[in-house]
Amino acid sequence: MAIDPTQPYDPANIFAKILRGEITCNKVFEDEHALAFHDIAPQAPVHVLVIPKGAYVSWDDFAATASDREIAGFIRAVATVARDLDLVQPGYRLLANVGANGGQEVPHLHVHLFGGRPLGRMIS
Ligand code: 5GP
Repeated sequence: MAIDPTQPYDPANIFAKILRGEITCNKVFEDEHALAFHDIAPQAPVHVLVIPKGAYVSWDDFAATASDREIAGFIRAVATVARDLDLVQPGYRLLANVGANGGQEVPHLHVHLFGGRPLGRMIS
């Protein structure tokens, strides 16, 4: 079910549980700013989710309220994951769904990182 990104952060969401270690994930990267793990239902040969360690509902919430240091650290972490997975050449796609029209289902900011095949030009 799509979430309302204007609601307060819900610490019971599934990615908060993964961050707390209450639910396992297939981790590919972790630093002080971010955790990255394989999506449970991959839509491409590589489908990794990168999440900030802070409590942010969405990309909108993160951009509006996170510190510059957190934002820079998170963006660098996303790029590091792509490099570590050897995706820079031949390329990859980033996607952040926001709210109902975006199709966001988990109310903790996550960037989808897709790769491993040509992804075409579709946006949905
Ligand atoms: P959204 O639609 O919110 O942008 O994407 C949520 C993503 O989280 C989906 O691609 C879904 O497959 C993934 N997901 C949901 N629950 C879990 C989980 O427990 N573990 C992992 N690794 N991925 C999950």
